[in-house]
Amino acid sequence: MKRKRIAILGSTGSIGKNALRVIDALGAGYEVFALSGHSNYKLLAEQVIKYRPGYVAITNDEFYADLRKLLEGVEVEILAGAKSLEEISELEEADVVLTAVVGAAGLPAVLAAAKAGKTLAIANKEPLVIAGELLTRTVAENGGVILPVDSEHSAIFQAMQSGKAEEILRVILTSSGGPFRQSNIGELEEVTLEDALSHPVWDMGPKITVDSATMMNKALEVIEARWLFDVDVEKIEVLIHPESIVHSLVEFVDGSVIAQLGEPDMCLPIQYALTYPARVAGVGKHLRLDRIGQLSFEKPDFEKFRALALGFEVARIGGTAAVVFNAANEAAVAEFIAGRIKFTSIVELIERCLGKHKVEHEVPLKELMEIDGWARRKVLEMAVKV
Ligand code: NAD
Ligand code: MG
Repeated sequence: MKRKRIAILGSTGSIGKNALRVIDALGAGYEVFALSGHSNYKLLAEQVIKYRPGYVAITNDEFYADLRKLLEGVEVEILAGAKSLEEISELEEADVVLTAVVGAAGLPAVLAAAKAGKTLAIANKEPLVIAGELLTRTVAENGGVILPVDSEHSAIFQAMQSGKAEEILRVILTSSGGPFRQSNIGELEEVTLEDALSHPVWDMGPKITVDSATMMNKALEVIEARWLFDVDVEKIEVLIHPESIVHSLVEFVDGSVIAQLGEPDMCLPIQYALTYPARVAGVGKHLRLDRIGQLSFEKPDFEKFRALALGFEVARIGGTAAVVFNAANEAAVAEFIAGRIKFTSIVELIERCLGKHKVEHEVPLKELMEIDGWARRKVLEMAVKV
């Protein structure tokens, strides 16, 4: 059997490292064809030495010389700079492009892979949020496929196989509720970076961990689901499920609800995207419901988690609202991580930024990126005053 060649964009991050663990467990049928990292050149060099890919990219070119030095004598093509991810995505030899970069920075590479008709395993949700229409259309026009890696979307993708698209009544995204599920609205004012970074269930990169604390992550996932599955926003719901065992559900018109369950471990959705349509034994732990005992569910608190309410609103409005929503969040989260703004200012700034934007529909990519830049600048401007 021909080996599947995998390019991992963002291999030094949380998803990237888990993807390499999955590939280790999958064994001979899978080959790491390309790797990329932004600044952690030491880990990237270690990964290259272990997996011997044909290509490696360091997107922050400041670290090119350091990476090169560590890879002296190693047979690998070293690329540098933001554009290098597009080059990798277009390579003839890559069978699957796994996108595990964080933020809108991943968009050009995802689009390039879509244009090249690749099988895209997408963890990097932000490009789908800001350019979902363009991206899914480009994939369809070029004969590619998108396989979701985000655990909720992988669950929905699996559940959807039980019926036809027109038979779907509701798509229900679950959420652990994050670290502040039980806090009252006033307590959010006092949240520190350390509090926001201690997620009760998932161990993830810093940006998505803060997004989970504000519930912005779920808001982005609503928009991600809207585009991935071409489903009307009115059919999407969010359900809080603190145990994070039921990864999401699909209700069909006959009243049947199909869910996907599993241990909260990203290796499982990553693996399913890599082996699809096959299912194989891998690194994923097996679920023992008798040991878990109880699964609980509750409605989300839209007043406390304003980001979630905004997410639904933005999903309904469509167009460039999602670009502003995402870019303002990326900028505000970076400010919060840098210690310059309060936790509650993140969502406040996003909302104010949305208020200053006049939504447009069907804008070309260039304009979309300009709006992204505008929103980031606006947040920085306003952040000085909060
Ligand atoms: P992370 O911060 O741990 O890793 C990000 C990766 O992207 C690193 O390899 C980093 O070097 C690279 N990177 C950072 N900035 C970059 C830039 N400007 N250009 C190119 N590469 C850059 O993030 P993560 O938690 O692995 O998340 C990655 C993506 O997957 C995000 O979009 C996130 O929302 C999504 N996701 C993550 C998880 C999870 O469990 N971590 C779950 C679901 C979805
Ligand atoms: Mg998720």
